[in-house]
Amino acid sequence: MKINTIILLNISICIILLSSCYSQEFQSDSFAKRRDRMVLEQIELRGINDRAVLNAMRKVPRHKFVPDIYIEYSYNDYPLPIGEGQTISQPYIVAFMTDELKLEPTDKVLEIGTGSGYQAAVLAEICDTVYTIEIFESLGNKAKKLLRKLNYENIKIKIGDGYKGWLEFSPFDVIIVTCSPTEIPQALIDQLKEGGRMIIPVGTKNNQNLVLLKKKNGKIKQHSVLPVRFVPMINESGEEY
Ligand code: SAH
Repeated sequence: MKINTIILLNISICIILLSSCYSQEFQSDSFAKRRDRMVLEQIELRGINDRAVLNAMRKVPRHKFVPDIYIEYSYNDYPLPIGEGQTISQPYIVAFMTDELKLEPTDKVLEIGTGSGYQAAVLAEICDTVYTIEIFESLGNKAKKLLRKLNYENIKIKIGDGYKGWLEFSPFDVIIVTCSPTEIPQALIDQLKEGGRMIIPVGTKNNQNLVLLKKKNGKIKQHSVLPVRFVPMINESGEEY
């Protein structure tokens, strides 16, 4: 190869590299802007104003938690498919559940239904540690890899049936369930700390409510906070609870 050709080739490679860096930079900037708009329009204007929740929603890069084909829709006002017939929840629902739990920085949280890992990342921005359980191995492993890449060292993921909770690390200050059983699993109530809070969608596909539950002086108090539609909680054979 002639020296001129080599120089030209090197210049072209530099241009390609620089322009790809620029476009990535530009893209992540535009995702940050979309995220700010999502938080303002879909969350703040609907009445959620807790600083920690809003900051977490502004920080976690939701577009990295959706399959590539949906990246353009990742900041829109609806849930999206993540594989195995499951979905990443609508941003407002993630913010709403997080807000209802009145999280403290010292809280140890259990999540049932890791899915994409997005809700776990939002929780991990606010609390001390997040334990999360996913029944589909493929989803759990994918979330594990992504959360590691994003440096979420305070999230521990287990593949298994979250209906039974995670006894080893119980009791928890907070439990958040993102799949719906027809009744609240007793194991989860048992693994909640005194003074703890749980939020869980309960019911059937067509009649489901988010229930907020509190444990005070050993007694359980609960009430419905919002009608919702989550995927069902299933066991390892795929049967609905
Ligand atoms: N929190 C998720 C939303 C996931 S949808 C996110 O931010 O993306 C609910 C998830 O619950 C699905 O991934 C589903 O596979 C999982 N799931 C259903 N039944 C389960 C069970 N018994 N234990 C653990 N995960 C379960």
